[in-house]
Amino acid sequence: MLRLSMLQMDFLNDLFRNKKKKDIAFDLSIFEGFPLKITYKPYYRKIAIAMPINGVITVTTGKSTPQTEIMAFLNSNRDWILKAQEEIAAVKTQFPKVEFNNFDTLFWRGQTLKLYYLNKDKKNNFLPSTEYLSCSGPKPQSESHRQQVIKDLKTFYKTEAIIEIGDLLQVWSQKMELYPSRVSYRLQKSKWGSCGSNGHISMNWGLITCPKKITEYVVIHELAHLKHQNHSKNFWSLVERYCPDYKERKTWLKNNNYICDFLQNKSQLHP
Ligand SMILES: [Zn+2]
Repeated sequence: MLRLSMLQMDFLNDLFRNKKKKDIAFDLSIFEGFPLKITYKPYYRKIAIAMPINGVITVTTGKSTPQTEIMAFLNSNRDWILKAQEEIAAVKTQFPKVEFNNFDTLFWRGQTLKLYYLNKDKKNNFLPSTEYLSCSGPKPQSESHRQQVIKDLKTFYKTEAIIEIGDLLQVWSQKMELYPSRVSYRLQKSKWGSCGSNGHISMNWGLITCPKKITEYVVIHELAHLKHQNHSKNFWSLVERYCPDYKERKTWLKNNNYICDFLQNKSQLHP
């Protein structure tokens, strides 16, 4: 499995976790100008903090923890909170909100293209060039029309992704002599690909936003899982045999975690 890493840090290690989901109370507030969500759970000890990419400071604690203790905890973690917020702001700048207007930036095979409506046709056919991703249809004038454009754009991305990933799987299966029992394609939030013990490989079609050599690395990674169902030394040496610069490609993916966020129905980055 290849996970999208989260900009997250927590202090859950020394927490006693309660399986019961009952009696959870929420409290929403603000800290240093950033949204803060406090979740009170029975039997929780100490205090945990996490910073999901939506920028909501997320604190989990026991239901009897006094507010003063929570405030002291937040103050002692102020530097970490501010640094995490800075990183989130940088990611938002790197991957700005896409409204699907003319000249909005879209990621396509590792390129940044500008969306442009040609208004030549009623149908939305997409054509990427070096600078633009042109749409044959008109610029959307209503929300339902905009939703239709997004739907058609996603169909285009998915179709192209299945061709590219399918070809790569075929090539690398033969080279590595490892064949999946089944391949499926989904747009996923947290994984680029996964491989089940039954040999079923699932690929994130959002990879079409990335350069081909990145997709190639994910393909090699998942095929290698057909032999090693883990991330052991043997697994990584198998990946390295077929992809000697896999570390660089892995780093690229980590730095471009949210490249296909604009294709998600609900953006994690711009909620
Ligand atoms: Zn893996």
